[in-house]
Amino acid sequence: MIESDLKILHLEDNRYDAELIQAVLEQNFTDISVTLTDNRNEFISILESGNTDLVLADYTVPGFSGPEALKLAREKIPGLPFIFVSGTIGEERAVETLLEGANDYILKDRLDRLVPAVSKVSDNVRHRRKIIELENVINLIAGSTNDVIYNLDREHKVIKWLSSMNTMLGYSENSFTSDTAWWEERIHPDDKPVLMSSYTSALESGVLSKSTEYRFRKADGTYAYIDDKMYFERDASGRAIKIFGSMADISERKKLEDIQRWESEFYRNLLEDANIWIHVLDTQGNLLIWNRRAKELSGYSKEELFDGGNGWDTLTRGGYQKLKEIFWRLLNEQSSIKDFEQRIYTKDGRELIMVWSSNFVKNHKNEIIAVMLLGKDVTAEEKARQQLLSSEKYYRSLIESSSDYIFVCDEAGVIKYASSSFQTSTGISTGDITGQSIFSIIDLKDSATVENFIKGWLTGNLETGKFEVEITSPVRGQVFLEIKLRNMLSDPDIRGIIVNARDISERKMFEKELILAKDQAEEMNRLKSSFFANMSHELRTPLIGIMGFAEILADYENDPEVASTAGRILASSRRLNHTLNMILDLRKLELSDTRSFYEETDITGILNALKEDFTPEAQEKGIEIRVNADENIIFETDRELLLKALLNIISNAVKYTESGFVELAATRNASGVMIKVKDTGIGIPAENQQNIFVPFKQVSEGFSRAYEGSGLGLTIAKKITDLLKGEIRVSSELNKGSEFVLVFPEKGSR
Ligand code: ADP
Repeated sequence: MIESDLKILHLEDNRYDAELIQAVLEQNFTDISVTLTDNRNEFISILESGNTDLVLADYTVPGFSGPEALKLAREKIPGLPFIFVSGTIGEERAVETLLEGANDYILKDRLDRLVPAVSKVSDNVRHRRKIIELENVINLIAGSTNDVIYNLDREHKVIKWLSSMNTMLGYSENSFTSDTAWWEERIHPDDKPVLMSSYTSALESGVLSKSTEYRFRKADGTYAYIDDKMYFERDASGRAIKIFGSMADISERKKLEDIQRWESEFYRNLLEDANIWIHVLDTQGNLLIWNRRAKELSGYSKEELFDGGNGWDTLTRGGYQKLKEIFWRLLNEQSSIKDFEQRIYTKDGRELIMVWSSNFVKNHKNEIIAVMLLGKDVTAEEKARQQLLSSEKYYRSLIESSSDYIFVCDEAGVIKYASSSFQTSTGISTGDITGQSIFSIIDLKDSATVENFIKGWLTGNLETGKFEVEITSPVRGQVFLEIKLRNMLSDPDIRGIIVNARDISERKMFEKELILAKDQAEEMNRLKSSFFANMSHELRTPLIGIMGFAEILADYENDPEVASTAGRILASSRRLNHTLNMILDLRKLELSDTRSFYEETDITGILNALKEDFTPEAQEKGIEIRVNADENIIFETDRELLLKALLNIISNAVKYTESGFVELAATRNASGVMIKVKDTGIGIPAENQQNIFVPFKQVSEGFSRAYEGSGLGLTIAKKITDLLKGEIRVSSELNKGSEFVLVFPEKGSR
C-alpha cells in the first residue's frame, strides 16, 4: 500500500471500467478518494470546488471529450495533474494528448501502469501542498515583520514582494514593480558594484545563504542601511531555482555603531594625546596601548621596547619583578593603586621619578579585561622637594644646635615650633607646648615687659623687641630669658613670629651675687669708716693731752734722757694724730658731705709753697725738690682740697725716694690744668698700681713693711680728685720712679 490521500476526479461513462479502476486504486493507496462523473457540468463544478488533486479521464465521454476536459482543467487549476485512462486511441493520438499537457496516458487493458503513474502524481501533489503551506507561513511572517520579504523567480528577473514595502521604505502599493531593475536602480551608486559582484558570486558559488549590507533609497529620497539576507533553493545541479530574501532596515543600528566607533576613536585619541604617560595591559600582561607621552618620556617606541625583549626590565633597570608582583596583586585583589612611585630610565639614560595610578577596564559583565596605568613625571618636583628638605634640614640643625631657644608662633601667640634645645635645657617638653600659647609659659611680670612684648610682636624689630622675661622650669626653677621678637607674618614662607630666647639665668645669677657682694662690701666699709671715725674722736682727746705733756717734758732740761724719751713720745703722738686726721678726712669725703668751694687758685704758688714745706725733709734725705711750672697758673678750684690731695702725693714721693729728685710740674691749657708729681724713687710694681688707691692698701704689707704709712693718702687724693671732677693716673717703673698725674677740667666742662 502506498500512502496517499489524493482526491481524484474521475471522468468515465462506463460504470464497469469505473469500478475496476477504483478497485485498483483502493488496493494500492491508503486514503485515496475518487469522485466519479460522466458529464461536463458536474466535472466543472467539482473542479471549481477546489478539492481536486488529480484528474483521471476517459478519452471519449458522450457529449464531452477528453481533450476538452484537459483544456478546462488547465484553465481552472493551472498545473493540476491530468492522466488519460482510456481504450486504444492510436499511437498518434496518444502522443498528441501528452503534447497538449497531459501527464500520462494509460490503456484500460494495461492498468498495471496506473499505480506508478498515480504514485508519481501523489509525490508531486504532496510537494505542492508543502510549498503552499510554506508560502502561507512566509505570508504570515511577511505580514508580521517590518522587514521586506521577497522572492525571485527562476530567471532572477521578477521579484515578488511578499511584505509591504510601505512600512519600511515608504513605497506605496502601486509605486514599486516586480522588475529587479526597479530594485537595482535604488541601490546607492557607491555600494552597487560591490553588492552586484557579491550577489553574482554567491549565485555561482553554490552557497545556501548570503548576507550583504548596502544603502537603499527610500521613497522620500533618503538612504536606509539595509541588511539583505538571501536564501538560495538549488536543484540537483546546484542551480538556484528560487531565492528568498529579507531586507532589514539597520539604519538605527548603523547610527549606533557609528557613534560607538566615534566614541572609541575619541577615547583612543584622548589616551593617545593625553599629557600623561598611559599604557594599557591585558590580563596576560600584554601591552595594548602605549601612548604618545609614554613614547616621549621614555624615548622608546612600543616596538623598540617590547618586540622580542623585556621592555619593563630595560625601563626599570631590573625592577620588573617588583612591578610584576604589583600587577598580579592588583588583578587578584581588584584594587587599584594610587600614587605609587617607581623610577624609570629613559633611552638616553636619564632617571625619571614617576608616580603611578591604575584603573581597571571592565567589560559589560563587569569582568576585568585590562589594566590602565597612568604615570606622572614628578622628577622636577621631587628634586625641588629634596632640595627644600635638605636646606630645611640644614637650617633646622643650625637652629637645633644654637644655644638660644627658637620659637615660631602664629599671630595669636600659639607655638608652632619650639627648638629641641629648649626641652633639653629646661625640661619643658616641646611636644607639650606646641599648639599652646607662648603666654602660658612666659611670665609677663610688669606692664613694661608686656609693652615691650607687644611692641616687638607688632613691629618685629629685633632691637625694640629685646627684653627680659622669666619662666619656670620643672628641673631648674626660675629661668631668665632675654627675648627678641621678629614679626615675619607677612613672609609667605614663615607666616609667623620668631621668638629668639637667650638663657641669661647664669649671668643674672652672677649679677645678683655681685650686687650682693658690693652691698656687703659697702656696708662693711661704712661700718669700718664709722668705727674709725668714732675711734678717732675718742683717741684724739687723750692724744692731745699726751702730746701737750710730752711737749712740756721734751723741753725738760734737768734730765736730758727724760727729754729725749718725751721727744719720741711726742713724735709717735704726732704720727698717730696725723693718721687720725687722715681717717677723719677720709670719713668726711666718704660721707660725701664735703662741699667744694671753688675759687681762683694760684697753682704755681701752691706748688712753690709745697716745695718749701718739704724742703727740710728732702734735704735730710739728700734729694732735690723742684718746681717746673709757668708763672701764675690760675685755675678755679677748691684750694684746700687740692692742697690736701697734693700734700699726700708729694709726701709719698719724698717718702719713697732715696736719691735723685722730686719734681712738681703744672701746665694749663684751654681744657683745664694738669699737675704732675714725678720722683726717682722705688717705683710701684705694675700689679699694684691700681690697688694703691684702695683704702689701707700698701705695696709692702705685713711684717716686711719698709715704710711707715696708713695706706690712706692716695685714697684721699683719689676721693678729692673725684670730687673735683678730675682724674688721677699713675705711671711707674720699679726702682726707676713714679709719676702721678692729676688732670682737672675747665669749669664749663665739669
Ligand atoms: P702710705 O700711707 O702707706 O703711703 P698711701 O695711700 O699714700 O699710703 O700709698 C699707698 C702705697 O702706695 C704706699 O704704701 C706705697 O707702697 C705706694 N706708693 C705711694 N706713692 C708712692 C711713690 N711715690 N713711690 C713708691 N711707692 C708709692
